[in-house]
Amino acid sequence: MNHDDLRKWSKRAADWAHGYHAGLRERPVRAQAQPGATAARLPATAPEAPEPMERVMADFEAIVPDAMTHWQHPRFFAYFPSNAAPASMLAEQLANAMAAQCMLWQTSPAATEIEQVMIGWLRDALGLPEGFTGTIHDSATTATLSAVLTMRERALDWAGNAAGLSGQPRLRLYASDQVHSSIDKAARIAGLGQDNLVKVPTDADLSMDPEALEAAIAADRAAGHLPIGVILCVGGTSVGASDRLAPCIAVARREGLTTHVDAAWAGTAMICPEFRDIWDGVAQADSVVFNPHKWLGVQFDCSVQFLADPAAQLRTLGLRPDYLQTLDADTAITDFNEWTIPLGRRFRALKLWFVLRAYGLEGLRTRIRNHVAWSSELAERIGGMEALEIVTPPALSLFTFAHRDGDAMSEDLLKRINDDGRVYLTQTRHAGRFAIRVQIGQFDCTREDVMTVAEVLEDLLVGSDRA
Ligand code: PLP
Repeated sequence: MNHDDLRKWSKRAADWAHGYHAGLRERPVRAQAQPGATAARLPATAPEAPEPMERVMADFEAIVPDAMTHWQHPRFFAYFPSNAAPASMLAEQLANAMAAQCMLWQTSPAATEIEQVMIGWLRDALGLPEGFTGTIHDSATTATLSAVLTMRERALDWAGNAAGLSGQPRLRLYASDQVHSSIDKAARIAGLGQDNLVKVPTDADLSMDPEALEAAIAADRAAGHLPIGVILCVGGTSVGASDRLAPCIAVARREGLTTHVDAAWAGTAMICPEFRDIWDGVAQADSVVFNPHKWLGVQFDCSVQFLADPAAQLRTLGLRPDYLQTLDADTAITDFNEWTIPLGRRFRALKLWFVLRAYGLEGLRTRIRNHVAWSSELAERIGGMEALEIVTPPALSLFTFAHRDGDAMSEDLLKRINDDGRVYLTQTRHAGRFAIRVQIGQFDCTREDVMTVAEVLEDLLVGSDRA
């Protein structure tokens, strides 16, 4: 296959993509595949001779789409969304065509500078302070790991990078029990150890209790441990819990600790000023991550980390060996690899640029506002069903419900919902109870798509004692 063939097949792929998206509502949302079924359809070894692209494409169509869960399906209400607006897909096609490795300004001046401008656009759109700068990572997991490594090095006066952690006191990191597992992963990978991620108790609002944070830090200092920082969440994954940032950050600051806010999902909603009360105090944070690749429409992967001052992160992650230096750099340039963990970087800013321009902030806000309103309407409808009850009310567009007759009934109901295929929901456990999660956030969903959840529930509960 050469570039002339690529032209032909790209057109075929674009036509296929159009048909795929147009037909999504006819497909079950979640893959109905059995484990091992796809692998069984592939040969055990790679072909020795080239195969015609007709055959490769035919196999793709025959094997792949039916064995995929359709994340762009308008009735995908599971996990969090991973939206891919058409403008984002177009930008990815162009970035793919150039296939640039954007590790240095010199290797990708336009990518670097568009990234800088996009960080500014998003900072302003989210209402963050003008002084914040930032970068794009592959994932919130990587952004959080970068922040935790920076906390560690700052607390150790950069001795960890130089000499390792042996002989150092126990390093302690603080977060509530509502944070995503990526925080646990960061504590493990940064060499702190899971046991040194202190899960601070939450109050009735599921926010970290600032007094409990203060007490935990004091107890650790008294025991000779070294507190390094505090992770706060806005829109936690399980039920959308948010820490009260202002008082928690105030405690951290009094203690000389830096803070990182994980708003991976909910951050997108901050483009709507009326929702910003859930992150009141964010202007005082040192680091904030949000994922345009969740709710904004900029497809995976694209995670933005804002930094009040990038110097400590650059000192932690940045290395500049001879072979990465830019000769004759007579003006200030930014080499974004020094802000992040991997050296290699994709041109992720292009899809942000396309999405922000193609839909405009107002177009994106309208979507978010619709999702939040439809989520409330749906929760009310489900709360009115005799067999069901709301476990946690909508946090933005995420709520949970359960069967009144207990976990086994809830679990069975969820299985039947997903076997039905019209919608896709997932589960969590809240206060020890199995709860079915509903998040509304798919880029192309309509009110009718959202209300299909209620219709499916009504159909499945017909005939049950409590219908
Ligand atoms: N933080 C929160 C609140 C999340 O919900 C998730 C994923 O859903 C993550 C972090 C991890 O995101 P990523 O897949 O970008 O690492």
